Amino acid sequence: APAPAGVHAALHDRHRAVMPDWLALYYDQPMELTHGEGRHVWDGEGRRYLDFFGGILTTMTAHALPEVTKAVSEQAGRLLHSSTLYLNRPMIELAERITALSGIPDARVFFTTSGTEANDAALLLATAYRRSNQVLAMRNSYHGRSFSTVGVTGNRAWSPTSLSALQTLYVHGAVRDAGPLAELDDTAFIAACVADLRDMLNQSARGVAALIAEPVQGVGGFTAPPDGLYAAFREVLNEQGILWISDEVQTGWGRTGDHFWGWQAHAAAGAPDMLTFAKGIGNGMSIGGVVARAEIMNCLDGNSISTFGGSPITMAAGNANLAYLLEHDLQGNARRVGGLLIERLRAIAAGLDGVTDVRGRGLMIGVELTDARAASRALEAAREGGLLVGRGGLDGSVLRIAPPMTLTVAEAEEGAAVLEDALLRTAGRR
Ligand code: PMP
Repeated sequence: APAPAGVHAALHDRHRAVMPDWLALYYDQPMELTHGEGRHVWDGEGRRYLDFFGGILTTMTAHALPEVTKAVSEQAGRLLHSSTLYLNRPMIELAERITALSGIPDARVFFTTSGTEANDAALLLATAYRRSNQVLAMRNSYHGRSFSTVGVTGNRAWSPTSLSALQTLYVHGAVRDAGPLAELDDTAFIAACVADLRDMLNQSARGVAALIAEPVQGVGGFTAPPDGLYAAFREVLNEQGILWISDEVQTGWGRTGDHFWGWQAHAAAGAPDMLTFAKGIGNGMSIGGVVARAEIMNCLDGNSISTFGGSPITMAAGNANLAYLLEHDLQGNARRVGGLLIERLRAIAAGLDGVTDVRGRGLMIGVELTDARAASRALEAAREGGLLVGRGGLDGSVLRIAPPMTLTVAEAEEGAAVLEDALLRTAGRR
């Protein structure tokens, strides 16, 4: 990679001098973001970009959404002090909204400040409730960077080496990368995954606490299992009372268009025992959380608190953001605009060399290229064209598209055109 230059170079040097080497950065010349508005962000050199990735990286609705800015500044002037030792109106209000929306009966919510911490809390609950520290996770999964969540992260590229407090068994289900599985149709694939699950359970002498899974793998490259998979898994899990934790950190709040939660694509499975959320709900303010049935949530003995989980200012942002999302039917917008965008990208891909798959639902779209180098070149070329996208996948070969959910048709068209140009320049015409 060429050495960074320009105004970002000095900043990059300072970053590297004081921050961990393993803190990943995008781009050969890493970019400073300075402000945002709507679906656009600006960098330290004053360049404007259409943001096709910020929707997953916390901006659920829009950058600088006036309703959220107002709620945050009003709360900042009123009270910033935070502790769950006191009653807090914005927190109770957001908890009421989220438990009602969760689909989980007799639901309780515990707020955290990140997705990692939300999954950590879910694993704490599951292991306490089931009195076992053995859990199941999906191959190629990503659930966070803490001591416990690294232990359920199957994607080795994103799990810094560590011994884990948990004993994890990894099952097939999300990706068909593994040789023979690649050839199977949906029904046969599900049967093979169920057989794998049973195999893993047979290896467990003392009983498994829970399965933790992303309905659509995010960091894993926006890969989704066939819709019947979790219903088939649930039958097996229910035989032993094993809990199902749905990690909705990327899939929640209607982003997938057809459903408010990712698990609802597997409706026959019923609601999960727990779901976790984070990222976009605060539109940039740090909110995460776990929703669970009361019986599970209340299984812990003793007292606990959270200093910043449920802080009035993040909760104020969450309430304003969620109200905006519901009032403006952004799930419907994700379905409509996302549907058009997927169609458009498929048409573009058909005329290009090197695009092996365009997949996704709503405003969660993956464009798979032949390899990681092609994806790097396309990411850089899109940036030059004024478009930010993300990347992911087992080997980094997938471009991830997840714009703020207020994306307009015109912006979808504009972004698709930039991406087409970027792919033409880096991969060529078919
Ligand atoms: N779960 C999933 C599915 C995620 O994508 C992420 C973040 N990429 C996390 C958990 C961890 O969230 P955080 O970065 O807020 O700790």
